[in-house]
Amino acid sequence: MSDLLRDRALELDAADGLGKHREKFALDAATVYLDGNSLGALPAHVPARMADVITREWGELRIRSWDESGWWTAPERIGDRIAPIVGAAPGQIVVGDSTSVNVFKAVVAAARLNGDDRGEILVDATTFPTDGYIARSAARMTGHEIVACDPADMPAAVSGRTAAALVNHVDYRTGRLHDLPGITAALHAAGALAVWDLCHSAGALPVGLDAHRVDLAVGCTYKYLNGGPGSPAYLYVAERHQAAFDSPLPGWNSHADPFGMTPGYAAAEGAAKGRVGTPDILSMLALEASLDVWDGVDVEDVRAKSLALTDFFLECVRAYVPAGRVRSVTPEAHAERGSQAALSCENAPAVMAELIKRGVVGDLRRPDVLRFGFTPLYVGFADAERAARVLADVLAELPA
Ligand SMILES: *Cc1c(COP(=O)(O)O)cnc(C)c1O
Repeated sequence: MSDLLRDRALELDAADGLGKHREKFALDAATVYLDGNSLGALPAHVPARMADVITREWGELRIRSWDESGWWTAPERIGDRIAPIVGAAPGQIVVGDSTSVNVFKAVVAAARLNGDDRGEILVDATTFPTDGYIARSAARMTGHEIVACDPADMPAAVSGRTAAALVNHVDYRTGRLHDLPGITAALHAAGALAVWDLCHSAGALPVGLDAHRVDLAVGCTYKYLNGGPGSPAYLYVAERHQAAFDSPLPGWNSHADPFGMTPGYAAAEGAAKGRVGTPDILSMLALEASLDVWDGVDVEDVRAKSLALTDFFLECVRAYVPAGRVRSVTPEAHAERGSQAALSCENAPAVMAELIKRGVVGDLRRPDVLRFGFTPLYVGFADAERAARVLADVLAELPA
């Protein structure tokens, strides 16, 4: 039985058109890295690029680099590199600040764009906590009421009272993929704006921001985009909203003439309106370099491999793990699945600790969820088979 699956894994890897990208990453053969949905692996060329940024751009050119090394324009330039990965035309994405801060900008901006006689903001009830905390604070400031709602129920919950909804494209815990086109269309039909959080989808599956007429979106870059620990997040403001977009954090970097140093604020045009203060250039340029791994990669191919990987992993788990020891909380249907497999399990903290000791690195979402993220650019089918086999070994040794 197990040899059959091992052989299948080798065949699938041999036929995998994306397999060649693995060598672009700093990985070791002893580890199966299934935590790229939390911190993407290091693209191997980034250290040399960062050495140049530090020794030459900072060390030798110093302040000249704001202009000569393109530091000042990095937020919009890198936004335009992320744009094709999330289905956006250029000029609508700006990179900077954390996802948390960008959620704040997006929720307040959405309320200001559409909140005059609409008093409610819908928020994904199972959202990553920071989105919910920030949305509640933003709503207190704008005078809106937060209505927590399962994304699947948003089409029924939205009404003429709804200014906007903040929705996660993929649930960080279960890996459930929400229907971005359908929910966005339902929100629009009721006159509400759609604000999507792409943290667990960008770089793992096609998003189609422009095609589905999303209004605003945010996402982080250190997960499937491999930008490095704490790399800056991004904000998408659809072109049709840019003129009226009114940032709640109008720092000098978003001024039409930042070096005019005038006391009065006049907003820049375009995506730059989403900037705040001086960008964190080192993190930003590490992200920019890391995005090179996407050159020539079609996100549709990434999606096809991601589904094949999670299907195969779940098949191996069913074959190897004794019945009843784990339960998948990730939807079976492809249309409802992101790029991770989440297994509910007794004794999950001890199980994950032991998996990591044996070189299978996933993570834990308390109390009982083992999360395995599948990053198609550098995870293969043999990795999926090995992870399931080691999981079965660990469960065989630990009491139920
Ligand atoms: C990872 C993640 C974040 C992280 O926010 P930070 O401000 O970068 O800490 C926020 N929201 C979601 C949905 C996430 O998955």
